[in-house]
Amino acid sequence: MPPRLSSSQKAEVLVEALPYIQRFYDRTIVIKYGGNAMTDVALQEDFAEDVVLLKLIGMNPVVVHGAGPQIGALLQKLGKQSEFIQGMRVTDEETLDVVEMVLGGLINQDIVTLINKAGGKAVGLTGKDGHFIHARKPEIIHLLDSRDFIPVIAPIGSDEKGVAYNINADVAAGKLAITLQAEKLILLTNTTGVLDRGGGVVTGLTSQRVKEMIDDGTISGGMLPKVECALDAVKNGVKTAHIIDGRVSHALLLEVLTSSGVGTLIRGASANRANHR
Ligand code: ADP
Ligand code: MG
Repeated sequence: MPPRLSSSQKAEVLVEALPYIQRFYDRTIVIKYGGNAMTDVALQEDFAEDVVLLKLIGMNPVVVHGAGPQIGALLQKLGKQSEFIQGMRVTDEETLDVVEMVLGGLINQDIVTLINKAGGKAVGLTGKDGHFIHARKPEIIHLLDSRDFIPVIAPIGSDEKGVAYNINADVAAGKLAITLQAEKLILLTNTTGVLDRGGGVVTGLTSQRVKEMIDDGTISGGMLPKVECALDAVKNGVKTAHIIDGRVSHALLLEVLTSSGVGTLIRGASANRANHR
């Protein structure tokens, strides 16, 4: 058991959050929910509480989720292999049905239920709803997050013929963060952050350093779309991007409301250092 805090320590912790609450009030925070935080029941509840808390203190959290482990498990049951190129799932027509069912159906509704149980008003969407992913005009998201609602988005798009396609959740979250000109893009995953060769967490990543790490193979697989979309986001108006450890309980809250972030920070070259951790 962790040591219990005294009343004055509790007050200090709450007060520490004040500057962050002021700074991020009414700002949009796009959160990619994935990795272990998504499969462990206790962590799921922590995540839902964090999202509801951020909403209630005046921020606009938008959740984009993956379903990698769950899709993989069902495909395996159906005797189909999962195939990945550069960390992104390859979807043929048959696989896409499974993706739509699991990602846009089961998992999306699970997350909506979780957030609602924690006291929020979550609304589940896929990129097909309001055609917002294809059209890149997410009025529907603006409409929802400027009210009491918390949008929970499954990254399925459709082309002009109505044919569905699966978009990597990191990539979808990054694009959405740009379109919404979010304050933060936060990617929850199953490592302590972006790791260097020695297994240490790298922070303050620049595009040059990322390029080197990709070229020498230090960054590979599922981490590729994350670092790429994070860099893309901060180059295009998102203030900061964070790749954080979803295995840490309340990782999201720690990242947004305390000085002890839990992972890798990526910021745009022009971001004001004094203003953004
Ligand atoms: P998620 O469900 O969060 O998208 P992924 O498996 O797609 O998870 O991506 C995270 C994985 O990327 C890590 O578990 C790790 O195996 C892999 N990875 C590759 N290079 C790195 C790196 N340099 N630092 C951290 N993780 C890395
Ligand atoms: Mg992934």
